[in-house]
Amino acid sequence: MYTGGCFCGAVRYEAGGPALHCTWCHCSMCRRLCGAPGVAWFSVPLAQFRYVRGQPAVFHSSPGVRRELCGLCGTQLSFADERTPWEMDVTTCSLDDPEALPPQDHTFADYRLHWEHIGDELPRYRRTRGDGLLERA
Ligand SMILES: [Zn+2]
Ligand SMILES: [Zn+2]
Repeated sequence: MYTGGCFCGAVRYEAGGPALHCTWCHCSMCRRLCGAPGVAWFSVPLAQFRYVRGQPAVFHSSPGVRRELCGLCGTQLSFADERTPWEMDVTTCSLDDPEALPPQDHTFADYRLHWEHIGDELPRYRRTRGDGLLERA
């Protein structure tokens, strides 16, 4: 069982395993929404995710995409896509223990800022995992 929540504590969640798709996303939407160069995510079965304190604010960043965040402190918590309704993506760093689920790959690596240097040997996908790997320079 994974537990986490927002910075101010108004919204808390629990998520059951297995955690899948641990990734470090470099897309421009995650970047702007979190005010950070990249954002780490993991996925759990939607049925295994629930809020146990408070309720999040909801924002649709594109059609069919639901992002949930704390309406008070603004912490981004989750991402759900109508095209994959069985799973819920959760921000790794909203976990109480982000060390538990380190990223296993990089997604949208083509979109990273030129000053964001990846310093690991994990696979780097150009966009999604289906879009192929990025050639190393
Ligand atoms: Zn909060
Ligand atoms: Zn992203």
